[in-house]
Amino acid sequence: MTEAFPVDIGPQYEGDVIRKADLYVEFGGPKAKSKFELVTLNSPAEVEHGRIEVIGPDIFELEEGGSYPLAILIDVAGERLEKETEPVIERRIHMYTNYIQGLYHMNQREDAWVRLSKDAYKMGLKSLRDFGKILIFLYTSELSVIERVAITFITDEKRVQELLPHALEVYHARDERLKGLREEDVDQFYGCVLCQSFAPTHACIITPERLSLCGAINWFDGRAAYQLDPEGPIFEVPKGELLDPVKGEYSGANQVIAERSLGQYNRVYLHSAFEHPHTSCGCFQSICFYIPEVDGFGVVHRDFAGKTPIGASFSTMAGNTGGGRQAEGSLGMALEYMRSPKFLRADGGLYRVMWMPKEIKERYRDVIPENLYDKIATEENATNTDELVEFVDKVGHPWLRGEVELP
Ligand code: SF4
Ligand code: ZN
Repeated sequence: MTEAFPVDIGPQYEGDVIRKADLYVEFGGPKAKSKFELVTLNSPAEVEHGRIEVIGPDIFELEEGGSYPLAILIDVAGERLEKETEPVIERRIHMYTNYIQGLYHMNQREDAWVRLSKDAYKMGLKSLRDFGKILIFLYTSELSVIERVAITFITDEKRVQELLPHALEVYHARDERLKGLREEDVDQFYGCVLCQSFAPTHACIITPERLSLCGAINWFDGRAAYQLDPEGPIFEVPKGELLDPVKGEYSGANQVIAERSLGQYNRVYLHSAFEHPHTSCGCFQSICFYIPEVDGFGVVHRDFAGKTPIGASFSTMAGNTGGGRQAEGSLGMALEYMRSPKFLRADGGLYRVMWMPKEIKERYRDVIPENLYDKIATEENATNTDELVEFVDKVGHPWLRGEVELP
């Protein structure tokens, strides 16, 4: 079936990483300012099946070694498809792109990142149209509910920038649906092992109050994904018994972690960064890291290029956090998790956070309690732990003053 394509396709390529030395070009990622991927469900009349459009320069027109903007817009139609499956179909971009020999996909939404290898380029993968053809082939052959697919790739920076706000609105609306729904209200959680090709002992546990660490799958998405493809990477997690309401330990989640981590771990605390934290793969949006000097946390996101007060950058820390490990005091997480009423509840929650990049602090202004906002340092206040100690001491951070009561 794959003869019509310039490169081979199959799950055997899933774990292949494309390193700098093998890179032909990349789209998105930290070096490209504008990037996103978005799946939209439309009526069959609106989706011209098989249509692939490239707006902006195509691969063969780009200079080797560069990082370029990219929007991947996928329109789908199918009688049995529902609006709530959009994020699930969108997350499949990750899985399917990694099925393609010589292509590598990381992250999601507005952090998407695609790399093309020199070998694949030599083999003839020189146009985004070929990438599109393969994606359409995979979507329709793997998910029978998808009847029509059309794909638009945009590499024109200005166009990507123009459309990004709409994508951000859609992501936001998806996250908003969860407001008010609590772990106590549901009988089951969902699990995802899509990242096991890179992180063999990693499994996400997704609850109404803890979305996946990639930020792409919330509880509703998990439910929709399971309904769409019960044999797929997303599965049901029976809650079981609530063993610790503060740390968020459930016997059902423990059992799933034991099975899916191949015996590596047998407990998971959903709302603590200590002892048995959630495993981290590699595509987390941010890292929550413990800073012993202040007995508090820092939060750093993927796009923060500088160094955190502990002297390490996001990418250095990501290496020590990910890979499928439960890394105590270093937790890969979705930024939206900070909106959860159960956010690291056992550890003090937001009141334990002492540093974050200015951009994130501003983006999450509405969730940070008013009496805390000015007490969290940013890169403008502290670039090393000495400065951080001084800052939190000076402002009287409530955690250090003993004003925070743990549940
Ligand atoms: Fe699935 Fe979790 Fe990976 Fe997201 S981070 S794709 S939810 S395993
Ligand atoms: Zn991952």
